[in-house]
Amino acid sequence: MKLMKSFLLLVLVGSVLIAGDWHKETWNAFCGSAFVDNASYRVLQRICDEAGGRLVGSLQNEKALAILIEELQKLGIKPKKESFTMPGWVRGNDEVVLIEPTERKFKAIALGYVDRTPTFSASLVNGHAGQKEMLDSINIKGKIVLITAEKPKRGKRPLRSEVIRFAAAREAKAVLFVNNKVGGLVLAGTSSFQGEPAPIPGFSITLEEGKWLERLLAEGKNVRLRIKTESFCKQVNTSNVVVTLGGKVKEKIVLGAHFDSWDLGQGSIDNGIGSAILFEVVRLFKQIHPENYFTLEFVWFNGEELGLWGSKKYMEAHGEEPIVAMINMDMTGRPTGFNAMGFDGFVPFLEGLKNQLIGFDLERGVINRPWTNSDHMPFMMKGIPNFSLTAHLDKEQVSYYHSLGDTFDKVRADYLSQAAAIVSILTLELSNRPDLPYKRLSKEQTAQMLKKYHLDDILKREKEWSFK
Ligand SMILES: [Zn+2]
Repeated sequence: MKLMKSFLLLVLVGSVLIAGDWHKETWNAFCGSAFVDNASYRVLQRICDEAGGRLVGSLQNEKALAILIEELQKLGIKPKKESFTMPGWVRGNDEVVLIEPTERKFKAIALGYVDRTPTFSASLVNGHAGQKEMLDSINIKGKIVLITAEKPKRGKRPLRSEVIRFAAAREAKAVLFVNNKVGGLVLAGTSSFQGEPAPIPGFSITLEEGKWLERLLAEGKNVRLRIKTESFCKQVNTSNVVVTLGGKVKEKIVLGAHFDSWDLGQGSIDNGIGSAILFEVVRLFKQIHPENYFTLEFVWFNGEELGLWGSKKYMEAHGEEPIVAMINMDMTGRPTGFNAMGFDGFVPFLEGLKNQLIGFDLERGVINRPWTNSDHMPFMMKGIPNFSLTAHLDKEQVSYYHSLGDTFDKVRADYLSQAAAIVSILTLELSNRPDLPYKRLSKEQTAQMLKKYHLDDILKREKEWSFK
């Protein structure tokens, strides 16, 4: 009985402590201000309309950086520019022209790192999904290879970077990738994750014009194209923008979003919204809760689209500093839950947090599934606990991914407010709970974790696997 009583007492004290541990007054202030005083929507509008698509190293990217810095300064914040040099790329006046059996200039865009090549004409051959075995089974030497949107009969669809390497090794002249979305859309993207110039030109063409070419080939017609490639690779100087809010200790939590985008649209969804949410979170902390246990570092990474350059450079410079956690925002729409990204020890905390946020539709709850190819990756590869939100984007917000229609009209202010509130609450709790299992995984543990979630395959194909 006595035992029972003290057990009950313990449970009671325990639950009071847990409930009292949440900083709800601050949550309320964050939520109210995120909606009522939201600054990020207007800042993003300026970045999109006054600068435009922010290809790293471009004039537009520099203009946008200046706007971001000016807006941060208006909040009384002194951002730092951390400059670095990286393999950059400039889009030129490229042309893909059908010359046989008729004449037609196609809508085509070069992939990143496609390099200047003397104009040539050659005949076209269907390379289907572009797997190695497929390219071995046809003669592609001296030809332009059409890679269709069809699913391979066996195995995985190769990456565009892989297809270009396979085709170049078999002495093809160029590769045309047919997009898989209807409506005259092309799909920008990099052709190398390490910044090497593409060995042969690779272009994205529309689904509709791709199918046209496919039909001609199926009819046994001789199809010839002329390709002019004026895009080129060059080293560029650029910078990440960093804002630091000092904490009680120098151990820090990094919040990041990539600031650069492709050049075709305005980079509003990818990743204007992530950059805007980061801006709003900085504002909320600066104005409502500037003092925290852990130091907070907010980073707008540059050069993500060409190969995560900004976050890799940040980790080269700061990787040995005591970074205890990282939160990444890439195309973060309306929050639907939290992702523990393979760091199992944080799941109970995230579950507890989610259960308190009853006015948000966090219908996906807490998932624990790491992913690759955004700025958390260099942190993840060093075993640093990292988190992201699961989020919903409307159909028209995602359908222009890496294309012309990624423009400011798709941005929703209410989604920005919701995401900024949730990220701020998550950050507040993480940054004031040193008792959470902040511990970097060792190299072996990191490799094990990545294998457990089957990420070793994609990382190897992208030549990003740094483990044995
Ligand atoms: Zn992105």
